[in-house]
Amino acid sequence: MDYLPIFMAVRGRKCLVVGAGAVGARKADMLRECGARVVVVAPALGETLAQRLFRGEIEYIAARFAPHHLDGAVVVIAATDDREVNRSVFEAASACTIPVNVVDDPALCSFILPAVVDRSPVLVAVSTGGASPVLSRMLRARLEKLVPPAFGRLAVLASRFRERVKAHFSDGAQRRVFWEKVLSGPAAEMVFAGQEAAAEREVESALSESFGGAARIGPVYLIGAGPGNPDLLTLRALRLIQQADVVLYDHLAASEIVGLARRDAQRVYVGKESGNHALPQEDLNQLLVSLAREGKCVVRLKGGDPFIFGRGGEEIEALAAQGVPFQVVPGITSASGVSCYAGIPLTHRDYAQSCLFVTGHRKDGVVDLDWQALTRPQQTVVIYMGLGTLGQICAGMIRHGARPTMPAAVVQQGTTEHQRVVIGDLANLPQRVTESGLKPPALVIVGEVVQLRERLAWFGADGASLATGANRRSEEFAA
Ligand code: SAH
Repeated sequence: MDYLPIFMAVRGRKCLVVGAGAVGARKADMLRECGARVVVVAPALGETLAQRLFRGEIEYIAARFAPHHLDGAVVVIAATDDREVNRSVFEAASACTIPVNVVDDPALCSFILPAVVDRSPVLVAVSTGGASPVLSRMLRARLEKLVPPAFGRLAVLASRFRERVKAHFSDGAQRRVFWEKVLSGPAAEMVFAGQEAAAEREVESALSESFGGAARIGPVYLIGAGPGNPDLLTLRALRLIQQADVVLYDHLAASEIVGLARRDAQRVYVGKESGNHALPQEDLNQLLVSLAREGKCVVRLKGGDPFIFGRGGEEIEALAAQGVPFQVVPGITSASGVSCYAGIPLTHRDYAQSCLFVTGHRKDGVVDLDWQALTRPQQTVVIYMGLGTLGQICAGMIRHGARPTMPAAVVQQGTTEHQRVVIGDLANLPQRVTESGLKPPALVIVGEVVQLRERLAWFGADGASLATGANRRSEEFAA
C-alpha cells in the first residue's frame, strides 16, 4: 500500500481551506459534514461560500494565505487556482507537519481524499492512490448500489448489542457466525424497512435462540419481480431473493429471476395460467404461513407489482392474520414497464392527461367494466388480462361512444426478448391479434398515445437484437 487509510476525527477542530471558489466550497462542505470548524482563507469569497458565511457555517479570513493561518489547524486543504499559493500552503504545512492536500496535485499532498460511500456511521472509502479519480468514482457508484441506504442504522443497532453479544459468546468464531447471521438476515431487512423495534426483538430472539429458545417465524417477502426482464428488478428485490430459503413463483416470474436465488434455495412453482390454477389461492396463503412457521425465509415472487392486480393484498392479509412477519417490495407494474418498452408513453400533454388501469378478466362469464369511465376523452386505458376478452372490450368501448378508429395496441411479453406488439384501432385490433396469434401475458393499451409508438419505439428497434425480431415487423400494422 502506498497510503495509510485512516479516518480522522475532526469534530469541533479547526480545518483550514485555502481558496474560496467552487472547489473550495465543496471541500468546506465535506469538512463541515464531519463536524469540523471550517476556516476559509482567500482574498474574496465565491458565491456558495458567501452563503455559508452568511448562515454562520464557516469562518472567513479575507487575506492571501500566510503560514500563521495554520495555527491550531489539524488539517489543511488548498483549492486555489494559483500553483504558487498552493505550493506555499504545502510547504508551510509540511514544515509544521500538518496534513495537507492540494486539490488535483498529488505531488503537493501529504494525504489524499478518497471517494466516499456515506452510510454514517458506516463509511466506505475508495482510493486509487491518485492514479484515477474517475475509477474511484466508478467503484463508488457500484458500492452505492450494493450498500442499502439505511446501512448506517444497522451499524447503530449492532453497536447497541455489541457488549451483550460479546458477553454471551466467549468464543470469537461463534460470535462472528452469530453476527453474520443477524446482519445479513431478517433483522437487517427490518432496519432497512424502518422497523427498528422489530429488528431489536429479532436480535433478542436470535440471542435467546442460541440459548435454545423459541424458533423464529418467517419472514415472508412479497416481491414484485417486474414485467419479466430481470434488468428491471429493484435492488431490494435482488437482495431479498438472494436471502431466500424458499422461492414461490408463478408463470409471470422469468426463469432468470427465479435463478437469482441461492443455489440451495427451494423453488416451488405455484403458477396460475388462466384456466390452469396450479394452486388455489387459499392453499397458497396457507403454504406461505406454514413455510414461515418452519422458520424459513420465504420469497413470494409476483409478476409486476404485487399490489396491482396481483392479489398481493390477499396473501399478506393471511400472513398478518397469523402473525407472520412480512415485507412487500414494489415492482415495475406491466402497464408502466411494457408501455415503456413498446414506445407508448401512457400520458402525454397533447393526448392523455390521465391513465386508467383495469382488468379485462371475466367475472361469471361476462366482462363487467365501467364503460363510462373507459370512454372518457384524453385518457389512456391499460387493460390487464384482457387478451381473452379483447373483442368484447373493443366492441363495448365503441358501443359506449369511443371512436372506432381510436388507436389501440396489444403487447405480448413486453420488456422481454419475446416482446411482440400489434397495433390497430378499436375496430380492427381483435381481428389483427387473432391473425397474429398473440398469447398471454399480454397487455392492451387504448388511446391516442398509441400513435406515438411509430416515432418512439426503441426496444429491439433494429429488429436484430430480439429473438422474434425477424417476424416482428411483418406482424405490426400502422395505426
Ligand atoms: N401484478 C402484475 C399484474 C398481474 S395480472 C403487474 O403489476 O403487472 C397478469 C397480467 O399482467 C397479464 O394478463 C398481462 O395483462 C399483464 N402482464 C404481466 N406481465 C406482462 C408482460 N411482460 N407483457 C405484457 N403483459 C404483461
